[in-house]
Amino acid sequence: MKKKILVIHTGGTISMCEDEATGAVRPSSSNPLTDKTQGLVDFADLIIEEPFNLPSPHITPKEMLDLRELILQKISVNQISGVVITHGTDTLEETAYFLDLTVQTSIPIVVTGAMRSSNEIGSDGLYNLISSIKVAASDEAREKGVLVVLNDEIHTAENVTKTHTSDISTFQSPQYGPIGIVTKRGVIFHHIPLGKEYYDIQDVSKRVVLIKAHAGMDSTLLHAINELPCDGIVIEALGQGNLPPATIPGIQALIQNDIPVVFVSRCFNGIAQDTYAYLGGGKQFKELGVIFSNGLNGQKARLKLLILLAAKRNLKEIEEAFSL
Ligand code: ASP
Repeated sequence: MKKKILVIHTGGTISMCEDEATGAVRPSSSNPLTDKTQGLVDFADLIIEEPFNLPSPHITPKEMLDLRELILQKISVNQISGVVITHGTDTLEETAYFLDLTVQTSIPIVVTGAMRSSNEIGSDGLYNLISSIKVAASDEAREKGVLVVLNDEIHTAENVTKTHTSDISTFQSPQYGPIGIVTKRGVIFHHIPLGKEYYDIQDVSKRVVLIKAHAGMDSTLLHAINELPCDGIVIEALGQGNLPPATIPGIQALIQNDIPVVFVSRCFNGIAQDTYAYLGGGKQFKELGVIFSNGLNGQKARLKLLILLAAKRNLKEIEEAFSL
């Protein structure tokens, strides 16, 4: 019997067309993927949903929550073996990670996209979609959390990131690599992700700020953020988790105001930890109460903090969650 795969189109380049005269890429009135896919996939029955058609810079945590609810509703009433979501690549990793943290299911959920729109030469959309359906229909992909499939590679939502503005091999997992590949004959996994986090949330109303540290940074922006409605802040700190000394008063003020402060590293390999004991070194910030994240990039740590706050986790629980 053929497997039932739920395909959810949300927009992005994969659903767009190029204007041959001007080269402009934009959404078209009907999704170019919808007609083509069913005819090309004979190993699965597809249930196709199009809840919205947005370029991914328009996607917010609200759309991510809507997607979560759509998936939970559809998989509870249909005998669905896997889910594929097509998405713009700019914020694809954020939606994938959001779903990874908030959907509890053993069936595969795969997110994919394209770097070239549907009518461009070398368009990768349909190919990535079919690869993703293969992964979503494979038994080996079960119990692996949300996966990101593009360009014949299978990545975890937790580690993958967009690394190039136009290259079709843009999605990479720095430090860890893909956990599997898609071949002409099937799907092969060579790593199994460890553990799985799950948070049950109902809303995404918390305000979490993300900023990047730089040489010569001071407390001006941190004090300004402290005056705003703000529930948490993630800072892409320097190296292992250090900041220029002039930021110390700003960090102290945020912590005194009970705003959780999470450090990730602005390096795209390695993790943030309290190694250095000089002024502005990680040890000083740890003593002040800063939480160090065990390896997420800034945009994912921001979403995780937002989700932890929505799930009403206290400071100690937030610290534990960032050490996983
Ligand atoms: N800017 C587009 C988007 O994220 C890029 C893409 O889909 O590849 O919607």
